[in-house]
This record gives sequence, C-alpha cells and structure tokens, in this order.
Amino acid sequence: MKKPLMAGNWKMNKTVSESVELIKILKNMVHYVTNVEILVCPAFTALYAVNNEIKGSNINLGSQNLFWELKGAFTGEISPTMIKDIGCSYAIIGHSERRQYFVETNEIVNRKTKAAFSTTITPIVCVGETLKERESNMTSKVIEKQIRESLFGLTLGQASSLVIAYEPVWAIGTGKTASPDQAQQIHHFIRKIYEQMYSKDVAYEVRILYGGSVSPDNISDLMKKPDIDGGLVGGASLEAESFIKLIRFFE
Ligand code: PEP
Repeated sequence: MKKPLMAGNWKMNKTVSESVELIKILKNMVHYVTNVEILVCPAFTALYAVNNEIKGSNINLGSQNLFWELKGAFTGEISPTMIKDIGCSYAIIGHSERRQYFVETNEIVNRKTKAAFSTTITPIVCVGETLKERESNMTSKVIEKQIRESLFGLTLGQASSLVIAYEPVWAIGTGKTASPDQAQQIHHFIRKIYEQMYSKDVAYEVRILYGGSVSPDNISDLMKKPDIDGGLVGGASLEAESFIKLIRFFE
C-alpha cells in the first residue's frame, strides 16, 4: 500500500532561527503520526539546522532544488552530494517558479532528476500548466510533454520511486485550487502516460501529489480522489497550525 506524502515547500521564507522555531513545534505536534510521510523543504541556508532538529523523528528533509553536476566549477550552485550530506532524502525539481523565473526546461529537469538519483535522493518532479495553456485546451499536451521529457531515460525502478507533483501554475499561491475533479482528471491522465511509458504496476505505484493552494479547508475533498497521493504545500506549510492540520488529516 502506498503511503501518502505531505510535503511543505517553504520557498524563500524563514531565517535559520525562524525555521528552527517552526520545526520544533511541528516535531512535537506530529510525533505520533504514522499514516502519512512528512517532509519539509526549507531554504538551503536552514537545511543543516533543521536536520539537527529532526534527527530520529518522523519528519524527512528535502531541498527545493539542486544542480545536475556532483561537483566542480559551478559558482553558486549546490550539488546533490551536498544535499545528501546535509541530511536530505528528497529534492523538489522543476517547480513552476524555477521553470518560470530561472528558465528551467524539461531537459534541465531531466538532468537534475538523474543527478538526484545518482546520490539516492528521491526527486519530486513538478509539472503543471499555466492559465493560458488551460484556457486554450493545451493542458494534456503540456503535461504529457513535461512528463515524457522530464523523465526521459529513467529505469522502471526510478520511475516508480520518484514522486510527481501536479501543480497547476494558476493555482500556486493564488488561493485558487483546482477542483478535486480537475486535479483527479490530470492525476489519472499522468497514470495513463505512465502506463504507456512503463507499465500498469509502475503507474499504480508512483505517488502523485497535488499542489496549488492546498489548505485545511480543501484537503479532505482532494484526498477523496483515488489518484491523489498527498500534497505539495507552499503557503499553508509556513504556519505550524495549518501544516499540522494537514498532516493530522491522515490520522
Ligand atoms: C508550492 O509551493 O508548490 C505551492 C503549491 O504553493 P501554495 O500551496 O502556496 O499554492
């Protein structure tokens, strides 16, 4: 049985002390939770301190990005080896903000995904359409291209163990959530692409998270859908109270 995943993307928020303050509360309030895997993705600068706080707990650590080379002359970049060394087991790759502001293409996402696997970091590969693409009926086409190109050349084992996050760009940080039916439709579509690329089993096994203004108010309706395996949460993961509610939903 797949365990759902509730992942908090803290984006470019919180100093080290603010991050430590949040994780301490979180750790105490969700220590008994076993039905959902919990993940926090703080800023790079807070990873070390947050990792010290969560050692031995049921909270996992992830980065919000990584570079595709393991070391070398790439000023300002952070390698998968460094991410692993600091305690991360996951990395978010190809978030729409990186695709939009840092021109990350599917090819770059593919290189980063493979680099993550080379250091046994589990990639959370993000896909999603813009409002313009949705309004011009391009959603399926865009998602299929993102999946096929971002995951190009992966083994069956890699394809089943990675995590996909479907995040419609128009729903991120806007307070507009895709309706549970809209989300389910795309999650199901992603599994169909997976069946073609890999197999029925792999399509069933891969965890597909929904992201885009997930909150304690909409988690229950979203999680009723059969193809939604958890959430990638921005805004609501920055406050202990709302993230704890999201995690406790699964208990
Ligand atoms: C995100 O950061 O991936 C996200 C979905 O943000 P929000 O929950 O704030 O929409």
